[in-house]
Amino acid sequence: MESRNWIGGEWYTPTGGTMAVHNPSRTAEQLGTLYLSRPEDAVAAGHAARQALPKWAGMTGAARAEVLYKAAELFHQHLDSLARLASAEMGKPITEMRGEVMRAVHILRYYAAEGVRAIGSVIPANGKDVLQFTKRVPLGVVGVITPWNFPVAIPIWKIAPALICGNTVVWKPAEMASLTATRVTELLAEAGVPAGVLNLVIGEGATVGQALLDAVDLDGVSFTGSTTTGRKVAAACASRNIKYQTEMGGKNAAVVWRDADLAKTIPALISGAFSSAGQKCTATSRIIVDRACFDEVVARLADAIASIRVGPALEPETYMGPVASQAQYDKVTSYVRLAEQDGQVLARGRTDVDTTLGYYVLPMLATGVAVDHPLVQEEIFGPVATILAADSFEEAMALCNQTVYGLSASIFTQDLQKALRFLEEAEAGLVRVNLETAGVEYQSPFGGMKASSSHTREQGQAALEFYTQVKTCAVYYG
Ligand code: NAD
Repeated sequence: MESRNWIGGEWYTPTGGTMAVHNPSRTAEQLGTLYLSRPEDAVAAGHAARQALPKWAGMTGAARAEVLYKAAELFHQHLDSLARLASAEMGKPITEMRGEVMRAVHILRYYAAEGVRAIGSVIPANGKDVLQFTKRVPLGVVGVITPWNFPVAIPIWKIAPALICGNTVVWKPAEMASLTATRVTELLAEAGVPAGVLNLVIGEGATVGQALLDAVDLDGVSFTGSTTTGRKVAAACASRNIKYQTEMGGKNAAVVWRDADLAKTIPALISGAFSSAGQKCTATSRIIVDRACFDEVVARLADAIASIRVGPALEPETYMGPVASQAQYDKVTSYVRLAEQDGQVLARGRTDVDTTLGYYVLPMLATGVAVDHPLVQEEIFGPVATILAADSFEEAMALCNQTVYGLSASIFTQDLQKALRFLEEAEAGLVRVNLETAGVEYQSPFGGMKASSSHTREQGQAALEFYTQVKTCAVYYG
């Protein structure tokens, strides 16, 4: 398969260079080729989006909704092939990837329904015979910059609310998910997204992404990716005084208290830490355990880790696939070496698969490092979890919050008081009891505190606030 740009309703192949796409489960297999854009392509996409804006913004929400309903139908119809493409491209196990495409279907339906929902409010006026109300209008042309780790769901959870609110979009997907992005755009085009309303620009972050921020006439940017890039996006948008949201990294903790139901807790910890090979912004990266049950939790986790099925992403029995790329492999294995050098490896997964065929990193549980060690402080974005013991609830909370990040945090306990205190005291945008740190539902606001986010929220109703701006209207009828 080859990537293509979709700009102003035209498919074309940009001429800024090429990049081979290899299957991370079997790197010898070339899946396709990316054709990279030049900065001018981003500018052209911006012009097309600007031109398409008045007509799209002027349509009724109900008419825009029809396109999203049709898109939901098509994504559902092509669920299997789209999931297979994405699994092959970035290594997420096929069972998880099917779930992700289904999530995209639900998101499209959810935002389609928002097309006819009341939005705005009537405010009593102090002046006599004045009707005062607010309405929400589109931002305008929105830049959407996405990572590779949710190659279908993240783009859709940005594009669907942007479109239903009447914005037009320029989308720059991650290099490592650009074949999937091409297919996602083909389905949206088939669903009837009009020319110029969505524009796809494939290319590298440093050139095309940067051009989007510097040279395209945008009214807003929605970004998900690393904290380093997110800060650049935020600075560029702030200097242009355009609205932005940046959803970035995490170093999420799961606290296990002595009264936790371990039969349910252990699978939740395993899923939180190792599904998607730990490559979720909400992945459980630190496990903080009441010392009273530390040894038992370690023993049970070790057993569970040993039985994780590591294998090629497209095999239905695979629980954990490879990491997504050479760069991911190099980064994650550098933390594996750190754990081996500086700490103690308590458990490591095994597999019959020849791990040299792809970017396989076996799941690992480490301990024995200080709280300020990189294993405990830096986002690893791979299947490496660090476990720490706490002697009191206060110490567990202090460890939980001792991070620059604030995306997600969970506690496993039967104690209502501890659960409620945790929800109150944990410094994270997503706080959960007896649930893994990942897996927040699409109809709820999603986002982080501290260095994890620009403090706006995505998904649910929160996205509608981001993709619109408020007008305060007053009418004198006396
Ligand atoms: P990344 O920051 O490297 O890239 C994200 C996107 O930004 C890509 O499309 C990339 O091409 C683009 N980009 C890179 N440099 C740019 C620049 N100078 N200007 C404009 N765009 C640029 O992140 P990644 O490796 O693709 O994704 C992994 C990261 O994403 C992790 O840190 C993870 O925690 C984070 N993430 C966060 C959330 C969340 O909702 N908080 C969700 C998923 C992933």
